[in-house]
Amino acid sequence: MLDEIRAQLDRIKQAGATYVDCRWYPFEEAIGLTMWNGNLKQASASRESGVGIRVLYQGAWGFSASSDTGNLGAVFDKALDNARVAAERVTFPVRLAEKDAIRATFTSPSRIDPFDVPLGDKVAFLAGVDERLDQPGVFQRIGGLDFVRKQIVFLDSEGSEIEKQITEVFGGMEVHGVDADCTSHQRSFRMNRRGDTRGWESVDHDLFAENAERIVRELNSVLQAPPCPVEDRSVILLPGIMFLQTHETIGHALELDRILGYELAFAGGSFVTLDDFGKLRYGSEKLTARADATLPNSPGSFGYDDDGVPAQNTLLIDRGLLVGAITGRQMVEEANAKARRVIFPESGGANRATSFYRVPIERMTNINIDPGEDGTLEDIVANTEHGIVLDGDRSWSIGSNREQFHFGTEIGWLVEDGEITDVVKNATYKDDTLRFWNALSAVGDASTWEVVYVDNCGKGQPNQIMQLGHGIPVCRFDGVRIGE
Ligand SMILES: [Zn+2]
Repeated sequence: MLDEIRAQLDRIKQAGATYVDCRWYPFEEAIGLTMWNGNLKQASASRESGVGIRVLYQGAWGFSASSDTGNLGAVFDKALDNARVAAERVTFPVRLAEKDAIRATFTSPSRIDPFDVPLGDKVAFLAGVDERLDQPGVFQRIGGLDFVRKQIVFLDSEGSEIEKQITEVFGGMEVHGVDADCTSHQRSFRMNRRGDTRGWESVDHDLFAENAERIVRELNSVLQAPPCPVEDRSVILLPGIMFLQTHETIGHALELDRILGYELAFAGGSFVTLDDFGKLRYGSEKLTARADATLPNSPGSFGYDDDGVPAQNTLLIDRGLLVGAITGRQMVEEANAKARRVIFPESGGANRATSFYRVPIERMTNINIDPGEDGTLEDIVANTEHGIVLDGDRSWSIGSNREQFHFGTEIGWLVEDGEITDVVKNATYKDDTLRFWNALSAVGDASTWEVVYVDNCGKGQPNQIMQLGHGIPVCRFDGVRIGE
């Protein structure tokens, strides 16, 4: 197969293409399990394989994919034909940033392959979780586990040959209850990681047990709680909502294709302009954010992107100043040309496709915030006069250019003069993105930092669902409107 792919790459190059690549998926397997009120509600398994071919011809892309690898030449021809047709209408010829030809392999760290674990053990795990969630006050309980295993072989006409073996595990649980006003409330736990692997061993029994007890206890406190007041307070975001804040108002806002307008028809644009890089005060001095695809334990780490560029740790915001974006080979060239200056010296290695039959586009890797120097959660609470601690994502609404947002959280704890007082229900907060990040007044230390997994980030047309992580500390923002 590899010899045949190499021969096809040469053939299409000789037919006039300036660049050709092939992503061959020998296999991609997925298992999904959902336990609902003690019953196994869903158990799915899928397996697919195939090739995806990109051809660049006279500044235009052509793409073709097939699960039938028996006639590889036809798939390559189709991609070239598509590029030839597109070339007649191209308005901004595609150029690709330079990269090195790489021959490498990448295997995501996993001690126990989840596909070797018997189905009965997985179901028993979920049943054990369900038993712990089955407590007074809880009328609905849900537990889920998802597993992915895939092999991707990448070859291009510039001499790169990269083989990746990737295993991912996702898990979570949630409980629902009803208060005296017949309003439903929820409390959830999304699997997070502090370890250095991502196989079956990351489905940590103790982690789920502790958090099951906690979310049931917290749900019951919400069911008895008064509503969130409507006023301005300092908001202290725990990782269970801080990950979404980072995802929506840093991650999506800094995808370079969105900044250039390519996602306007679907996911939206960005308030950030090319002129802002190196100038815009995105946040306070306490904010340093990065796109780090080198964390061993996260689904946002993949060794090499689908342009064949090595995964990187890219600074996005340096002590409040906007300095970088989430980039791939094509968009950095277009951005530099449109800005008439070199903003991005090379690709940031963030071009990824969700499967062999989708084209790679710029995707978040792990969009992280560096831990700060404001101590533990307890220290931050002790130094807060009039605040609220928030956790859990219940609802979200974000401006299409990410310029403002409104989030509903699962729980809030009021803080008065350095002490937690009451729990409140229906807690919400809202703000303008730049005002909010510039009001960042405390960043927790490494003890508050954890990697929260996201397995459902949507982008692109046709839609591509992508997996990544957010390494984030506890953060406090001042003067934020809550409760409306
Ligand atoms: Zn997303």
